[in-house]
Amino acid sequence: MEHVDDLVAQSSDATVSSDTPTAPKQKPWFKRLSLTTWIFIALILGVLVGLALQGSPEIADTYIKPFGTIFLNLIKMIVVPLVLFSIIAGVVSLDDVKKVGAIGGKTILFYLCTTACAVTLGLVFANLMNVGAGYQMPTEDLSYEATDPPSLIDTLVNIFPSNFFQPMADATMLQVIVIAVVFGFGMIAAGKKAKPVIDICNSLSDVCIAIMRGIILVAPFGVFGLICPVIANNGIDVLRPLLWLIVVAYVAMACQIIFVYSGIIKLFARMSPLKFLKGEMPVIGFAFASASSVGTLPINMECTEKMGVSKEVTSFVLPLGATINMDGTAIYQGVCAIFIAQVFGIDLSIGQQFTIVMTSVLASIGTAGVPGSGMIMLAMVLQSVGLPVEGVALVAGVDRILDMARTTVNVTGDAAVATCVDAMQKRAAARRAKKAAAAQ
Ligand code: ASP
Repeated sequence: MEHVDDLVAQSSDATVSSDTPTAPKQKPWFKRLSLTTWIFIALILGVLVGLALQGSPEIADTYIKPFGTIFLNLIKMIVVPLVLFSIIAGVVSLDDVKKVGAIGGKTILFYLCTTACAVTLGLVFANLMNVGAGYQMPTEDLSYEATDPPSLIDTLVNIFPSNFFQPMADATMLQVIVIAVVFGFGMIAAGKKAKPVIDICNSLSDVCIAIMRGIILVAPFGVFGLICPVIANNGIDVLRPLLWLIVVAYVAMACQIIFVYSGIIKLFARMSPLKFLKGEMPVIGFAFASASSVGTLPINMECTEKMGVSKEVTSFVLPLGATINMDGTAIYQGVCAIFIAQVFGIDLSIGQQFTIVMTSVLASIGTAGVPGSGMIMLAMVLQSVGLPVEGVALVAGVDRILDMARTTVNVTGDAAVATCVDAMQKRAAARRAKKAAAAQ
């Protein structure tokens, strides 16, 4: 199977061999660089050009931002059919409701546990590092209009679509996943009669993957176009007043990756965490620039498969994760809740902090994988312990800077869980095969 960096390498190989069939010429330096390297070059260039354009951000908005927007639009266009057909193909290939249940059960358990760890880490660091202490911020003029979060039962009911097309048009991923699973099971149940539809879904899934790989090849341009206007508009000055909040949130998020994800990768996937992180580098770079888990989904599927995770697992676990597993967002919500409490001079009891853990887990599940949605859900966390929702306005100025990091953690968490679930499934299959062989 071809993958992101291999595609770049292949296209350059073709050029070389047509010139000199016997002794291949040394490839030019820019063709020797991997996509990961290109994404990071684009990221650094984007930051530097953004800093240079700080005095006139309209130049970045007019001439550079459109490239980022076009790229993100292309990704958004392909993400719904990609998820739909790859989940259908995945469910049909499992051909066994029990197996789908086993993967689903493990995934949800991993997602809940890693998110609970994440928000706890956020709270511990925010308390230990005194995130809001010393802030002299005027809090009287703040205003923030909190939108009413849907109730738990509404959220549950909303997972099930009443229409086949609406979720596709609105890119409501959870509903798209439900449609795909239901149709996948329908095809299994219909047996032989479903064969033509299964073939069509399988080949449409391959078509979507081919399109996605084409889009990924131009990811460095997208990354540049996305990060440059953000830096030009926000600049360094906007960071200064809330620098400590940013430091605390980034430290907690780094610990989630270094300890929690590396831990589960070592323990459950029995894989080197360094190898995992190296394989995830293009995903990390892209998530940081785009601040969108759903936008990063195609690249995450590609890179995780490249590390050996089976398609039947990535096609189900990653889209689900991009929708409900938001560990970085949970950390952000924990840190911000403590920050706002301290700035307003409110002491939170252990019981209240436990309530924050519970509501942050729920709020992060309800957070959409698009830029800025975690901040909207923060209001729900604040309300749960009686903190003033106006506090959201305090952190809104640096939301994008925090969003870039929390999205990076969100997508890395999805990939870590997919890698663990896949390894566990493979070990269970090997055990079953051994037992069967012994019984014969
Ligand atoms: N931007 C985040 C994501 O796409 C969600 C958030 O705002 O926290 O994962």
